[in-house]
Formats: sequence, C-alpha cells, structure tokens
Amino acid sequence: MLDIVPAFARIGEENAFAVLARATELARQGKDIINLGIGQPDFPTPPHIVEAAIKALRDGHHGYTPATGILPLREAVAADLHKRYGASVSPERVMIVPGGKVTMFMAILMFGQPGVEILYPDPGFPIYRSMIEFTGATPVPVPIREENGFAFSADETLALITPKTRLLIINSPANPTGGVTPKSEIDKLVAGLQRFPRVALMSDEIYDQMTYDNAVHVSLLNYPEIRDRLILLNGWSKTYAMTGWRMGYSVWPEAAYEAARKLAVNSYSCVNAPAQWAGIAALEGPQDAVHAMMREFDRRRKAVVAGLNALPNVTCLTPTGAFYAYPNIKATGWKAKKLAAQLLEEAGVATIGGPDFGVYGEGYIRLSYANSLENIERALARMGAFLAKA
Ligand code: PLP
Repeated sequence: MLDIVPAFARIGEENAFAVLARATELARQGKDIINLGIGQPDFPTPPHIVEAAIKALRDGHHGYTPATGILPLREAVAADLHKRYGASVSPERVMIVPGGKVTMFMAILMFGQPGVEILYPDPGFPIYRSMIEFTGATPVPVPIREENGFAFSADETLALITPKTRLLIINSPANPTGGVTPKSEIDKLVAGLQRFPRVALMSDEIYDQMTYDNAVHVSLLNYPEIRDRLILLNGWSKTYAMTGWRMGYSVWPEAAYEAARKLAVNSYSCVNAPAQWAGIAALEGPQDAVHAMMREFDRRRKAVVAGLNALPNVTCLTPTGAFYAYPNIKATGWKAKKLAAQLLEEAGVATIGGPDFGVYGEGYIRLSYANSLENIERALARMGAFLAKA
C-alpha cells in the first residue's frame, strides 16, 4: 500500500471525460455515437493563430519564459480587457496559466482549509467542488435555479455567507446551464459584498464572448470597489477553440499575485512558450473566426432548443450563453444519470446527467451543441425515438 495523503481520497473529477472515454470505446466497437457530451468547440483553432505558434518555434522561442507569462502577452491581455470592458488592468496583475482550470486550482488552494467555507455554483463546473473538498474546506453550494433563467440570485448567494466564508465562486455565462446573469443581479451582489470584506471573489468568465440574443456579459472587472479581492478567470480555450493548447489567464489582486506566481514556479514553471506567442495573435489578430463560430453556435442553439422542446415530457429554456442546453427531464420519470447512460448505450447519443454538475442537477441533462447541425438533428431524432418507447 502506498501512503498517499488522505486529501486525495476527496479529490473528484470531471465526468465529461468518463463519458468521452465510454463514447470512444463504443465507437471503437463500431457503434455510431453522436457526442453531445464534450465541452469544447468542434472548430479548429483559426489558422493565423496556428501560424503564430509555428513562427515562434522557428524564431527560437524554445526556452522558459517568466513564470507569470511573457510581457507582450500580459500587455495584450490588459489591452483586450480594456478594449472589451473599458477596464483598466495592469499587466503586472495578469498571469498566464496553462488553461482556465489552473486559476481555480490556485485560488481554491489559496483560500481553502479545514474550518472555512467556500461558496460555488450548483449545478456548476465540477472542479470547483472537487478542489474545495481537496483542501478540506466545506463546500457550500449556491443553487442555480431554472425559475431564475439559470442566473444566480444575489440575495440567495449573500444569505449563504457566514463568518467562515473566505471565497465565493461565480460563473456567467455558465456551464452547464448556458445561463447568463443580468447586470442588475451582479450590481446587487457587489453591493451586498461590501458587508463582507473578508470574502474573496473568483469570477469564472471563460465564456465571456459567448452570448446570444440580447444577453450582455457583465465582467466583474467593471466594479472597482471589489478589485482588491477579485480573481478573474478567463482564457483562450473556448473563444478561440484552443482547448488543447492549455492557455488561460487570470487577473489577481495585488495581495494574491505573489502567491500565484510561487505556485507556478513550484509546479509548471511557465506556460509553453510558442503557445504564448499564439495567444498574442489570437487577441490582436482578426476576430472574424470567433464571430463565424458564434453564428454557427447560434443556429445550432435554436435547433437544439426547438428539438428538445418537441420531445415528449422534455422542456428546455433558451440558453443565452456558452454552448450548452440544459433541458428539464423531470416529467419523463427518468433519473438524469440513468437517462444519460441509456441514451449513450441504446441511442448512441452522449450527454451528461445533471447530477455530475452538483446536488441540484437532478432532473436535468446537459447537451453540448459543439457538434454539426446534422448530427444534432440526428441525435434529437434518436432521443425522441428512445423516449417514445422507453
Ligand atoms: N470554467 C468553466 C466554467 C468551464 O466550463 C471550463 C471548461 O470546460 C473551464 C473553466 C476550464 O477551461 P480550460 O479548458 O481552459 O482549463
């Protein structure tokens, strides 16, 4: 027996990867599987970004970079945030990290320990809870409700804060629901946080450029009154279809930046150098590919929502963010994880059961529409046939 420390018995994972493994295995056996489980754009990284990485390699960018990332990239991030939000961010507060996840890993390590509470959205990205439990802190789920259009409620969030709360995690546009929290609710949350100066805030804005209809993403960077305790999580994975490049960034309050830098030095040293040069090309180059991807996501979003609402006993709110639909399947009588498993095994459609995103996920499944319109239509037809006979 190996004496791995007990904290590792508490660390969780992302079930989307297990579903992907099962879907891949079924496909290998010759089954026709339509994957609506995975949370990554089904588009290639735009060519000018790929070329920038190749050029960086040819130009000799082969060595370590500063742990916080190369200065031109940190400057490009600051300029991008200024352009898009009007927020003034110093490149000295920006840190380049290997993927969006790393910011949450660091932030939760910084604030989590036995005896403290960390609030996080539920249903939400599963790694929040996993990492909170790893640190020994108490995870406190903030319910994300369908009746609120899957926006978080400021009042409900603030009511869960206790003297033990050290970190509050929010996410909009949201995974798995596609919900976008309106400005009025964010204003209320920020105003209420003035009563709790010890609570740090991590805002996961990885889907910030993925909104539809009239939804407007409001960045927490736009609230100077909380900048001294705001950790912003963002990155290239979703916007630029770069999940495999492992490129993310965070903006840290001055007090936490050093701690984050030291975590980098003690683990990965720095992000892959050519990927960082590609990151500059992504931010500074043409954004046409991003807009084209969003137009295509929008077409699919409409098709998936219409198709889901036509299924027996299924209803689906129209999501206004990210690339997920989160239908309510309560009236089908199925438990969500069981339904997702049967849809994969019997109908060849991979989805994720709501409980994989938290205790408030029962009664829902998540469909990612990062797949072709044709495959989405085929998947919906198969789901309809399955539900009609089941
Ligand atoms: N935050 C949310 C809400 C996500 O859905 C994801 C990825 O699915 C991430 C963060 C992590 O992104 P990355 O792949 O850049 O680590």
